[in-house]
Amino acid sequence: MNLAEKLVMERRARLAAERMLDQKQRELFAANQKLALHARSLSDQIVEQRQVVQVVRSEAAALKGENTRFQSDLERAHSAAVMAERRLWDSFETIKDGFAVFDPNLNLVAANRSYLSLFDGLPEVRPGVGYQTILRLAAEEGLIEIAPLSAEEWCLDMLKRWLVNPIESRVVQLYNGEYVKLIDRRARDGDTVCLAYNITETIMREAELQEAQATAEAANRAKSAFLANMSHEIRTPMNGVVGMAELLCETPLTEEQKLYAETIRSSGEALLVIINDVLDYSKIEAQKLVLYPEPFDLERCIHEVTMLLQPRAHAKGIELLIDFDIFLPTRFVGDPGRIRQVLTNLIGNAVKFTEKGHVLIRVVGFEMAPGMRDLRVTVEDTGIGIPGKYLEHIFGEFNQVEDQSNRKFEGTGLGLAITKQLIDLMEGEVWVDSEEGAGSSFGFKLSLPVAEDTDEMEAAPILPRSALIVDDQIINRSVLERQLKTYGLDVVACRSGAEALAALGTTPAIDVVLTDCQLPDMDGIVLAVRIASIAPGVPILLFAPNPGEIRAAMAEADLACIAGFLQKPILRSDLVRRLKALAVPAPVVVEAAPVGVRTMRVLAAEDNRTNQLVFRKMVKELDIELLIANNGVEAVELYQSFCPDMIFMDISMPEMDGRDATRAIRAIEAESGSPRVPVVALTAHAMDGDADGILAAGLDFYLTKPLRKALICERIVALCPPDARKPRSSDVDEDLAEAG
Ligand code: ADP
Repeated sequence: MNLAEKLVMERRARLAAERMLDQKQRELFAANQKLALHARSLSDQIVEQRQVVQVVRSEAAALKGENTRFQSDLERAHSAAVMAERRLWDSFETIKDGFAVFDPNLNLVAANRSYLSLFDGLPEVRPGVGYQTILRLAAEEGLIEIAPLSAEEWCLDMLKRWLVNPIESRVVQLYNGEYVKLIDRRARDGDTVCLAYNITETIMREAELQEAQATAEAANRAKSAFLANMSHEIRTPMNGVVGMAELLCETPLTEEQKLYAETIRSSGEALLVIINDVLDYSKIEAQKLVLYPEPFDLERCIHEVTMLLQPRAHAKGIELLIDFDIFLPTRFVGDPGRIRQVLTNLIGNAVKFTEKGHVLIRVVGFEMAPGMRDLRVTVEDTGIGIPGKYLEHIFGEFNQVEDQSNRKFEGTGLGLAITKQLIDLMEGEVWVDSEEGAGSSFGFKLSLPVAEDTDEMEAAPILPRSALIVDDQIINRSVLERQLKTYGLDVVACRSGAEALAALGTTPAIDVVLTDCQLPDMDGIVLAVRIASIAPGVPILLFAPNPGEIRAAMAEADLACIAGFLQKPILRSDLVRRLKALAVPAPVVVEAAPVGVRTMRVLAAEDNRTNQLVFRKMVKELDIELLIANNGVEAVELYQSFCPDMIFMDISMPEMDGRDATRAIRAIEAESGSPRVPVVALTAHAMDGDADGILAAGLDFYLTKPLRKALICERIVALCPPDARKPRSSDVDEDLAEAG
């Protein structure tokens, strides 16, 4: 190869090398550039990372701070919790009552010293011990009084108690005589928290209180018994005073003497009412009052009470009205004496505090169970009423309305308290509604069993189909109208005589006329005469508060049209009996007074000399043979030797009381088959505990002291047998005798 060629080749090689260098330089530049970029991005990343690291660092620093705070909070909380727990336990330790916690498996978690102190010296009793073991140790070691149970029975019983939720508290007595009340509660997580509460002091105080109460009650009973005895002792001579004063009033006296005697009598009677109240109240207080339930007629009972109050009501011009639910039976089983007493108090008050208008006794009943009735009796009056502020306390002792309108009324303030106590005793309720100046309504509720009906008249039909009622009192008219309608009668009701006469002219068939004796425009008798002239033969029944007097007054005037008199307020059974009697066309036989051949024999048993004297004087005008027995034994002897037609029997007598004497007489009658002699009880007080159950003892009637001449005489006349001479020839008031 020549040089040129070599040079060419060399140049070519150099050129190639230069190109390559150039390319490599470009590549290097590019690589440098890439590297520079990378280096920038790296440096950027580094900056970024640094920032992140810084943030993380500062966050870490913050977290660290927080952590420190948390830690110190935690430490504080922990020490607070420890302190709270320590305080709690310190507190549990300071209380002298036992405190313990058991876990759901009934193992002891913790207990205070007081709880554990009972088990001092028993190493088993510590946290972890089971409740059963604690019970067993308590029983077996004699730490708790378990008699009469055995240790096993007691533990079982206590364990059973624990298995019920909520756990019943239990009082146990410890070996040292202290009493502990165990109060255990289930906690939410199944633990049981127990408190053993020392109630020794409370129990001792209770025992002391009970003792003090028993002493106070005994003292109160002694006081009441003393009061009861005193009242009883005062009552006997008072009866003598009143009886003698009544007799004195009947002797010839000057006006002045009559006034004195009357005052002695009425003051004596007022005193007796007060004494009777005190006696009753003390008896209730002394818990000596017992109820004697027996079958009785409630309607008749109400009627009898109104009859007693009738004169007082009549004198004031107040109407006494009874509205006895017609669908209600009248016979119930209850204590008639006590029910009568309640009625006497309520109706008596109604009459006392009413100057004009009426007193209405309403009885309704609901059948709550077969054979039982819920009876509601209300006594409504149109009197002075009771201001609202007194209403709440009106049934308390000695509570009386003390204001101008009330001051003039006498009373002990015991009547309503006695009424409430009696109704409470009979498991009833009393209430009052009243508006000052408008009137009051006192009521009571009683649940009584219905008694068997013994009325033989029940089956007889009522024949009159239509009736004319004449009465100006709307309540009376509507009560009567309702009653008659229930028995199927057509009723025409009129307010006056003139209206009645007009009605008779337009109404074709009236079978019976029932008229009040006192009408605004004419007298009932005048009306009867006028009715008889336009409707001859129509029977007329007159009702009046005092039928005996009216009949006596018109004894001479022969009024054949008057079929009979009804006592006002009208007793439903009397009304029905009258109507039924009307239906029987009895042959008109003029009943001749039986001409007896012998004198009626009356025996009176009475231990008190004064009362014997009073009795003798009271019946001295009667044509009777009277023997007096000084006690029950004598009464039984005289019953056998004297064969009396009737007996008056004092209830409380020495040796043998009236009840026992009557029982003995009834036994003799039963044995000998002799007829039943009527026995009239003489009780010191109708509501007296002594008088209760007298009818059950075989006595037929009773009269209360002070003895009333009229009532004694009436009773004798009514009980005179046909073969004896009538003890009194004139004005024999059969109706009253029958009603009494
Ligand atoms: P007393 O009638 O003996 O005072 P009560 O206990 O029977 O005692 O009655 C207490 C009081 O209640 C009476 O004093 C009277 O103020 C009042 N009161 C009772 N019933 C009535 C009544 N129907 N109307 C107005 N006030 C009455």
